Amino acid sequence: MLDQEAVDKFKAGIRGEVIQPGDASYEEARKVYNGMIDKRPRLIARCANVADVTAAVDFARTHGLLLAVQGGGHNGPGLGTCDDGLVIALSRMKGVRVDLAAGTVRAEGGCTWADVDHVTHAFGFAVPSGIISTTGVGGLTLGGGIGHLTRGYGLTIDNLLGADVVLADGRLVSTSATEQPDLFWAIRGGGGNFGVVTSFLFKMQPVSENYAGPMLCHIDRAADVLKWYRDFIVKAPENLTGFFAFLVVPPGPPFPEELHLKTMCGVVWCYSGPEAVAKGPSIFAEIREAMQPALDFVGPIPHPALQSMFDGLFVPGLQWYWKADFVHTLSDEAVALHVKHGSQVPTVHSTMHLYPIDGAAGRVGKSETAWNYRDAKWSEVIVGVDPDPANKDRIISWARDYWNALHPHCAPGAYVNFMMADEGDERIQATYGPNYGRLAAVKATYDPHNLFRVNQNIKPAG
Ligand SMILES: Cc1cc2nc3c(=O)[nH]c(=O)nc-3n(C[C@H](O)[C@H](O)[C@H](O)COP(=O)(O)OP(=O)(O)OC[C@H]3O[C@@H](n4cnc5c(N)ncnc54)[C@H](O)[C@@H]3O)c2cc1C
Repeated sequence: MLDQEAVDKFKAGIRGEVIQPGDASYEEARKVYNGMIDKRPRLIARCANVADVTAAVDFARTHGLLLAVQGGGHNGPGLGTCDDGLVIALSRMKGVRVDLAAGTVRAEGGCTWADVDHVTHAFGFAVPSGIISTTGVGGLTLGGGIGHLTRGYGLTIDNLLGADVVLADGRLVSTSATEQPDLFWAIRGGGGNFGVVTSFLFKMQPVSENYAGPMLCHIDRAADVLKWYRDFIVKAPENLTGFFAFLVVPPGPPFPEELHLKTMCGVVWCYSGPEAVAKGPSIFAEIREAMQPALDFVGPIPHPALQSMFDGLFVPGLQWYWKADFVHTLSDEAVALHVKHGSQVPTVHSTMHLYPIDGAAGRVGKSETAWNYRDAKWSEVIVGVDPDPANKDRIISWARDYWNALHPHCAPGAYVNFMMADEGDERIQATYGPNYGRLAAVKATYDPHNLFRVNQNIKPAG
């Protein structure tokens, strides 16, 4: 039982707010992005600054409370919240500071990518992130970060230069390649296992206007298009990233009416860098010739517009069920299975994506960061998504059946940010492979009692 006097003292001592059951804002505050998650925390601490975060970590530790840390709240299995424990919600900590001389940007732990893109774009730069701008910088970065710029500029963690972290014992430390380098190694892929990151320091890249967008093809051409994509993308210029997708065309503008609700396949392309707009048309001549798309939205587009292109479709509160894998090779047999299951996408929001992770991301050594799968070519994700909770079983069984069919053709591990929390410790160990032992040792140094365990958990060594 938590003593209310202690709660009141904690409340009085921080600049942010502490919300508990019965408060008017509690029902709204406990929601996360995935509508399938229905957790009831004992306390939600909306921290306003680093001092609040240290106070909240100390409070959870000294009162033996389960502790969850929430960046953008997007995590599939809802690892930014918990039942009966304390949630450190960072959504008030959204400061973004560009240093043009150094070519860097510092973002506080509660930023979404929209917050960062808004500032960096004003100066002609971007940080490699994901494909939806409402996703949190915190969770996406700590898990790795795969998106439109991966082949040209690496994973998000490959652009991380440092971070400020509140540790389990309440200490605030700065970490980088030269300060607490073991911690810096671990947070680049090891998730929220090591502390609360109150700010991230990123290198900015010269990405402002892309030549980008979706190209969709009729589903009866799916096998040919996927085989062509498989062979093309690994040899394409690195500034060209494109993820393959099976999807259902939404029934509204800007899509032509004859395609509404049709299951299609396609690629969402992004050609980036200082010469993207000038060189885009010639780069895409070959692609257009090969794909013969039924819908072609590729053209010049500002980076923040590309990043937020799908935000309106994927609004908060939908039901989400995630399954994932890493892929080294896509055999013809695997292509046939993709076509079989991808043709049965069950709802307008459900989809399968194959994200290329070669190029700049693939050149980083397997042990340079905690992110082990540097030799894989794709990160595959199958997401069953729908607004209606009544469709939950349908979207889950589609995602599981699809994954069960493809998994024998994939690597043992998967990207931690694309998994639910139902896959067990062995799967986490397979994901980190030879890096797991070192991660467990770093965990034992910085969080020996596993205070930070609401995550894809790495157990402290020993
Ligand atoms: C619509 C959608 C699109 C997505 N697209 C992509 C994509 O393109 N590329 C990609 O790589 N991923 C993508 N993801 C997956 C995404 O990276 C994960 O869901 C990630 O966990 C979200 O981070 P968050 O901060 O929003 O989540 P939260 O739910 O807030 O947190 C997730 C985990 O990270 C930890 N965490 C978050 N912030 C901090 C912090 N500051 N300090 C310490 N720990 C922290 C939490 O404790 C928790 O364990 C997408 C997810 C969604 C829902």
